Amino acid sequence: MNSNYTTGEYIESWCTKCELELGHTIIAMVDNLPKRVKCNTCSGEHNYRTNPSEKSRTKSKSPSRKAKAQEINYNEHISRLTGGDFSNARKYSINGNFEKDEVIDHSQFGIGIVLSIIKISKMEILFKDGPKLLIQNREALAGANDNTL
Ligand SMILES: [Zn+2]
Repeated sequence: MNSNYTTGEYIESWCTKCELELGHTIIAMVDNLPKRVKCNTCSGEHNYRTNPSEKSRTKSKSPSRKAKAQEINYNEHISRLTGGDFSNARKYSINGNFEKDEVIDHSQFGIGIVLSIIKISKMEILFKDGPKLLIQNREALAGANDNTL
């Protein structure tokens, strides 16, 4: 087996930019081993490596694992409260009056569940993207404070 590479030769390497195993051209050699390569796909130059480093692997996996856990939690909540049927989900409105465990349909965030009523005008909703604070009872409160009506 001949492992003597030369510069300008084709070699398969992990591309750090494309994040794929791709064809590269050797641009620098150290101790008869490819040191720097140029990606034939994106023309990016980087050190030769046969596979993604452990560091970049764990880095790219940990946030998605967290998001996955959150998603499972969300899906559990949703199915427990609705059985997968969103036909009773109420359209979210800042003037609405919602209750704990109520399923709401938000135009931007999608289906959410009222986790808790923080105060009469503020509630915490769990959406697919995570919990968010939303306003409710806005008109009722504004009306109560408005003496001109
Ligand atoms: Zn590339």
